[in-house]
This record gives sequence, C-alpha cells and structure tokens, in this order.
Amino acid sequence: MANIEKVIIIGSGPAGWTAAIYAARANLSPLVLAGRPKSVPSLVLPGGQLMLTTEVENYPGFPQGVTGPSLMAALEQQAVRFGTRIVTDDGLSPDVSNPDDGHTAKYHDCKAVDFSSRPFKVIGEDDTTYQAHSVVVATGATANWIGLESEQRLALSGGGVSACAVCDGAMPMFRDKELAVVGGGDSAIEEATYLTKFASKVYIIHRRNELRASKIMARRAMDNPKVEVLWNKVVDEVLGDERITGLRLKDTKTGELGERAVSGLFVAIGHTPATQFLAGQLELNEKGYIKLKDSYRTTTSVEGVFAAGDVADSVYRQAITAAAMGCKSAIDAERWLADQGIQ
Ligand code: NAP
Repeated sequence: MANIEKVIIIGSGPAGWTAAIYAARANLSPLVLAGRPKSVPSLVLPGGQLMLTTEVENYPGFPQGVTGPSLMAALEQQAVRFGTRIVTDDGLSPDVSNPDDGHTAKYHDCKAVDFSSRPFKVIGEDDTTYQAHSVVVATGATANWIGLESEQRLALSGGGVSACAVCDGAMPMFRDKELAVVGGGDSAIEEATYLTKFASKVYIIHRRNELRASKIMARRAMDNPKVEVLWNKVVDEVLGDERITGLRLKDTKTGELGERAVSGLFVAIGHTPATQFLAGQLELNEKGYIKLKDSYRTTTSVEGVFAAGDVADSVYRQAITAAAMGCKSAIDAERWLADQGIQ
C-alpha cells in the first residue's frame, strides 16, 4: 500500500508554512502541496497573497517592515529546515536556501480531495494521489474581478489591466501616467498609495461615498496630492482595443455615464476563498469560506481535516492571524493523530 502521510498541508501562505513549521517540529514530517498564485498568472512562486505585497509593516518582529516575498521565503526555509517536504516537478523539497534552485522548481497545486473515507486522499495537479491520516487546508483566497469582458481581455493581453499593483505597477507603461484603482477597502488604498510612486495621478473609483478602508490608511491616501477619489462610481466599461485608454464610469446615484482617460486599471475589490476543489467534501459558508466547527479551533466538518488562514477567515485576513491559525491547525492535527494512536 502506498505511503500514508501523517499530515498533508495544502497551501503555502503564512498559514500553510506556519502549520508546516509546527508539524515538522512535532516530527510529523509534513508534506506540502504549495500551489501557485491564481490571480496573477505571471507569478510562479508559492506563498499566497503576501507574494503580491511589498512592505508588510504590521507583522510583529519587523520594526522596519519586511517585504511579503522575503517573509514567505523565510517561513518556507524555516519549515524545510525542520523536515517539511514540498511536492515539486523535480521531486520533493527543493533547496529553498538557494533561490536559484528552490524558486525554479514548479510547486504543485492540489486539484481535488476525497475526505469521504480514511486515509484521506489528496490529488495533485499531475493526478498523483497522496494519502494522509490528517490534512490542513490553508489555500487562502484570490483576487476578485469586476466581471467585464473588456476588463478580462485587457488583463489577459497585458493591456494595462491588473489585479495587483504591487506586481505590475512599476512597469514602464504606467510611469508618469494617470491610473485608476477600483475599490474602497484597505487593498485599494494600499495599491493607490503604492502607485503614486510611479504615476502622475491615481484615481480611486469607489461605488459608495464612504471608504471601507481603515481610517489610518485612508488618511494616508487622502493626504497624498496625487490621489483623487471618484465617489459613487463603478466601471461600466474599460476602453481601448490593445491597450487601455480610459474608463466609462457610471454614477451609482444618478446612473449618469462619463469617461475618464487612464493608462492603467488596478482592480482591488476583495477576494474569493480558494475552496472550489473542496466542493462536497467540507462544509463551506455562503461565501465559500470553510466553516470551522468551533471558532476557537481549526476543526472542520470532517474529523482529521483542519483549516487555517484566509480560507476559513473572512474577518481578520491578516498575515499574523493566518500564521496563528496555521500554528493552531498543526497542534490540532498533532493531538488528533495522537488520539487516533498515530504517532
Ligand atoms: P474588502 O475590505 O472586502 O474591500 C473590497 C472593496 O471593493 C469594498 O470597498 C467594496 O465596496 C468594493 N467592491 C466589491 N465588489 C465590487 C464591485 N463589483 N465593484 C466595485 N467595487 C466593489 O477587500 P480588501 O480591500 O481586499 O481587504 C480585505 C481584507 O484585507 C480587509 O480585512 C483588509 O483590512 C485587509 N487588508 C489589510 C491591509 C493592511 O493592513 N496593510 C492591506 C490590504 C488588505 P463596498 O465598500 O461598497 O462594499
């Protein structure tokens, strides 16, 4: 019979890597299917949403801040140091201390699971079936799009529409140009503020007359002379054939249409949990997030399957809260395995 893993961790954001660090240090020799970013196809590295972030200023222990990719690389190295194995095209566990090795290997996605019987089955993107006594799901959430054909066409062709300012904003096509960010939450504010480094002006297009973002971040953006908020507006159409030339905006109060010339559009309107591959296997809430049996724990509707990070948390969604849940999930898995007599 094929090898049965003690614990498989699906996902590689702060939750997944922290679960791996704790599980590895508990001698569970975790196996990680790290996956790849979905919202930004050009990115190949695992590490979740933090791979799309520049400065993380609120992760404790970094008084000067730390970049998202550096933080994720450090967590990955720490997990591997204690015996975590990562599934890649080149076999298990690339040398992550060497970026030329660890980061050229293609990390594998999980495409399906079968939690209906034990051992649990986790199916990789190449159809390999892995068996496990316990599973931690830490697949996070991916960026939402407005849903316009013109938006998708120009996003896919590299025509100046993106869901990640931090990944794409520094490109020459956006330098000294007028750009737009859609959304009114912390992400929109963060992206707009970031884009002011390159752009001549950044419009924040928000569908209401009040931002959802935290006051301190909103103030930082509003105080920036390059930022202007266009209140009560939605994007009705992205204009341009091969490159974005502007936006047709609709006033949400009056229905009035107007045009605004911009050379880039950055969509920052929230996220969707990466749970499609779990359909029918775990209980999800109405927004698709994994339902925890007890909000204090990481237990799910299936005994032996645990969830950590943004995939099960639509409220806090912070790197530190995801890492904390990753820690809890590994401890929950370890105790559950011990109760089953699996050491
Ligand atoms: P969010 O808080 O859910 O905000 C999404 C924004 O997009 C809202 O303003 C929403 O409008 C708007 N929106 C949603 N669908 C839309 C549509 N179809 N058309 C136009 N606008 C639409 O998402 P987020 O900004 O990504 O933040 C998610 C979480 O991460 C939050 O908890 C946030 O605090 C956190 N975060 C923290 C930081 C940081 O601290 N550095 C940075 C980024 C994110 P309404 O307001 O009208 O609903």
